[in-house]
Amino acid sequence: MRTTTHDGRATIVAGEGLIDLERASGGLFGPNPTELFERWAEIRAWVASADLAAFIEPGEASGAPSPQPRQVFAIGLNYADHAAESGVPVPSYPPTFTKFPTSVCGPGDDLVLPSEFVDWEAELVAVIGVRAYRVRPGDGWSHVAGLTLGQDYSERDVQLRGAVPQFSLGKSYPGFAATGPVLVSPDELPWRDDLAIECAVNGEVVQSSRTSQLVFSVAELVSILSHVCTLLPGDLIFTGTPGGVGFSRDPARYLRPGDEVVTRIEGIGEMVQRCVPSEDVAG
Ligand code: ZN
Repeated sequence: MRTTTHDGRATIVAGEGLIDLERASGGLFGPNPTELFERWAEIRAWVASADLAAFIEPGEASGAPSPQPRQVFAIGLNYADHAAESGVPVPSYPPTFTKFPTSVCGPGDDLVLPSEFVDWEAELVAVIGVRAYRVRPGDGWSHVAGLTLGQDYSERDVQLRGAVPQFSLGKSYPGFAATGPVLVSPDELPWRDDLAIECAVNGEVVQSSRTSQLVFSVAELVSILSHVCTLLPGDLIFTGTPGGVGFSRDPARYLRPGDEVVTRIEGIGEMVQRCVPSEDVAG
């Protein structure tokens, strides 16, 4: 199953068109995207058995699949080449921070640059579909509704300011958790643990890897995180970025107004974002 949101409403993606979940189900299911994940198994079964052809409307997936997650987890240094370019050893336990939920946005939203130090980080994002607590690694995938694209945009000055890094703050400006445009359930991805991932800035490929290179896989992350926190339907896990970020270049390269960032993952799709300057904000 493929889902998205359209005008903030839970939406099923059907080939070239979109199906509004509430209208197609005659109100059996509501339009709230959080409810979509709370009732994920029930909705999947219903979609699989219903004849929805009459409800397909023209349109493209263009929203954040889970726009109001209660928790957003993000993993640092989860590709060996990114750990190396960051000058730190490959972690033995996943370094975890949050991107506060107000940073979540859709795939087509402009990226407002709050400073001259904003960096790209293309990432695979897992969305939780079944509440998870103390899940075994072998059961991790059964708690995942699907996968989508993400950009873990990072303001490196705030992130690294002071004696102790501020990962959560530096990665939580509005729009810094871009996701979408579609969520793909794992059964539609035969190679769900080995997907090509790429980021291009102004047409230049700056990151290119495969998710098989993740130090901690999606299933392992669900297990490890769930041994501390309860993972809730609709929660996001940003699984980490491969090597090739701007901060590690010499000289460092950051995003500028007018830049175009394209994020792609095999079998899921791509998102294209334009960088715009921050308007002056009082205070
Ligand atoms: Zn990241």
